[in-house]
Amino acid sequence: MKITAVHVDTLELRYSEPFVIASSALSVGPCDLVRVETDEGLIGLGEACPAYEFTGETLWTVQDVIGEYLGPSVVGRDPFQLEAIRRGWERELFTVGNQAARAGLEMALWDLQGKALGRPLCDLIGGRSRDGLTEVVALGWDAPEGLARKTRALRSESVTVFKIKVGDAPERDEERVAAVREAAGPDARITVDANQGWWDARTAVRAIKLLEPYGIELVEQPVRMDDLEAARFVRERVDTPIALDESIRGPREALAAARAGACDIFVVKLMKTGGILDALKVNAIAEAAGITIMMGNMGESSLGLAAHFHVNIALANAVHGDADLPWREGGLELDLGSGLTAVVRDGVSTVLVPEGPGLGIALDEQAVAAQRVTRRW
Ligand SMILES: [Mg+2]
Repeated sequence: MKITAVHVDTLELRYSEPFVIASSALSVGPCDLVRVETDEGLIGLGEACPAYEFTGETLWTVQDVIGEYLGPSVVGRDPFQLEAIRRGWERELFTVGNQAARAGLEMALWDLQGKALGRPLCDLIGGRSRDGLTEVVALGWDAPEGLARKTRALRSESVTVFKIKVGDAPERDEERVAAVREAAGPDARITVDANQGWWDARTAVRAIKLLEPYGIELVEQPVRMDDLEAARFVRERVDTPIALDESIRGPREALAAARAGACDIFVVKLMKTGGILDALKVNAIAEAAGITIMMGNMGESSLGLAAHFHVNIALANAVHGDADLPWREGGLELDLGSGLTAVVRDGVSTVLVPEGPGLGIALDEQAVAAQRVTRRW
């Protein structure tokens, strides 16, 4: 099988309400839809969801980098030559950064491999290590009353894990976490994500100590991304496990964080690692260092989420459930495809990973056309 063409569509996915966190406030999500055509008629699909504050990329840089550099480098190649293709991006094209662009194109090549073999993507990287993924709902910066109302509604739909965005003034964070704990009940699981908002180590320690009485399972990115010393300072002074997200982009940062003793958990996202191959390498470093991983995402549609879920279910070391569904309140107005499902098992909303070939997502061309945007400057 040979790749014959690569196309990138630029879309803005509309959220039904703005999602506000310490480092951004988004009412639409940038989305580059990647289609890779082959001489056998199979089409591979991938989604890049660039997050400027993580990798410096935008909707347009992804299109440019795939269109000008990465795309032409795969035309004529076999999508199964993934390691060689990726090595070529580094050693022949000298690609720096641009992880979302790499991830979106690589995802389409994995989708092609699965479709060619008639197997779901997770079967290519270890198979299913468990039956399903516990649903997690992320709650952005909102008034405590609003958070409580949402939490109660989600609890009635068997959502049991809540990830609360914090990183504001510690007292405001405490009000939000208290409201969610009160509404969720004592048996719900709660994690918090500061998105670097507390910035320095002393503020982070003070904030975490305020939140610990509410029963938080882990805290994500309490300090600025490039300060592993600060993360270690915090980790040594609080009881709650520390997860690093923005700090861990790929294997090098993972190794540095493990050596520094900076965290207990790596948050792995394909848009940071630049794809699945490097996500597997980050996981290998984690396992060797006694660190667990949590698969996150950047607010992708079902297409990109499916890639995260296939990796999540394949890795036994991915013990922290973090599977978001795009159709929950505040999520996407118009999803790009279908194939994800959730069921309630023992009172817990559980996400099922598609059984179909590749990503297992059927694209909705009308939803694509309705959200396509053209360059504004
Ligand atoms: Mg995070």
